[in-house]
Amino acid sequence: MAKSEERKLVEDYCRIHPKLKTLTLARKIYNENIKRFPKLKSVEHIRRAYVNTVRGLGGKRLRAKTADKSLYQERNFDTTNYKPFKEEVNTSANVLILDIETAPLVAYTWGIWNQNIQPSNISTDWYCLTWAAKWLFEDKVYSAKLTGAESLRQDDSRIIKGIWELLNKADIVIAHNGQKFDIPKLNSRFIINKLHPPLPYQQIDTLLHIRRQFGFTSNKLDYVNQLLNLPRKKENEGMPLWIKCYKGDNKALKEMLDYNIEDVRILEETYLRIRAWIKPHPNMGLFILDESESRCPTCGSTHLKDHGKQYRTTANIYSMFSCDNCGSTGRKRVTETTIKQKRHLLMSIPK
Ligand SMILES: [Zn+2]
Repeated sequence: MAKSEERKLVEDYCRIHPKLKTLTLARKIYNENIKRFPKLKSVEHIRRAYVNTVRGLGGKRLRAKTADKSLYQERNFDTTNYKPFKEEVNTSANVLILDIETAPLVAYTWGIWNQNIQPSNISTDWYCLTWAAKWLFEDKVYSAKLTGAESLRQDDSRIIKGIWELLNKADIVIAHNGQKFDIPKLNSRFIINKLHPPLPYQQIDTLLHIRRQFGFTSNKLDYVNQLLNLPRKKENEGMPLWIKCYKGDNKALKEMLDYNIEDVRILEETYLRIRAWIKPHPNMGLFILDESESRCPTCGSTHLKDHGKQYRTTANIYSMFSCDNCGSTGRKRVTETTIKQKRHLLMSIPK
């Protein structure tokens, strides 16, 4: 078979099957014509020498196309069974993950740009629309939402009691921007609704730790989760949904609750992914006091690795470890220096 004949044959096939993938087409040409033209070269030869040329993918362009593919290939990282740790260590700690949604505050204003709104111009202040919370590693999500009538009265007294009780049981509370938003907002609603302060708990504000440790373009939960290939936030229509809730729309309140519940689930994933970077993490070792083994202060696991590397403060040496379960690093409490060695240790004066 002459070269021009081969070329013509491939051209015809390309015209008849424009959508067939290059390699499939080359295979088809080869299989269907090998009997007629026993000298037909290999499938790979047909693909490279003819199909790509006919389709305009010769040389540089072909290389560029394949290079692009590898660069912009979609990450098909399967997150369904992915866990950023190997085992769920059950500590005695009650770790509560929570998120709240509040109504917008409504005010009288003379304009829309750069307004300074006086408290006397406020028509209705914000209140709690919904809340959702879950215990770490447990499936159940606890939640509550206002009824339409309650929202019209701006009365969240019924639902606020539930989250107050959960906070009373919690040892550690995780929230995104919890230190500046969720916790102070809840405290306001507690005191307004004549509830005492809940029993003290430790806080982990994921926003704070993300901001401190990383340089992401945005520290919003949705943006960070997109980068980390974690589940994304549920979409909602934005402000109109909040206005509908404020106006007592039951359907909107239900949608708000769904959104809220989803947020809590997502936050759990984010927390588990970043927990090794949280410094300092509340010491989980204190929730499983173990006399025989050392525990990871972040997750409570006993799978610790000693890398033979030492951590030096100004006056002491400690051996470091990393946790094989959650990936966090730390140091032992007991110093590596003897009393005799320390006696001869001198220190500079910082001032
Ligand atoms: Zn750990």
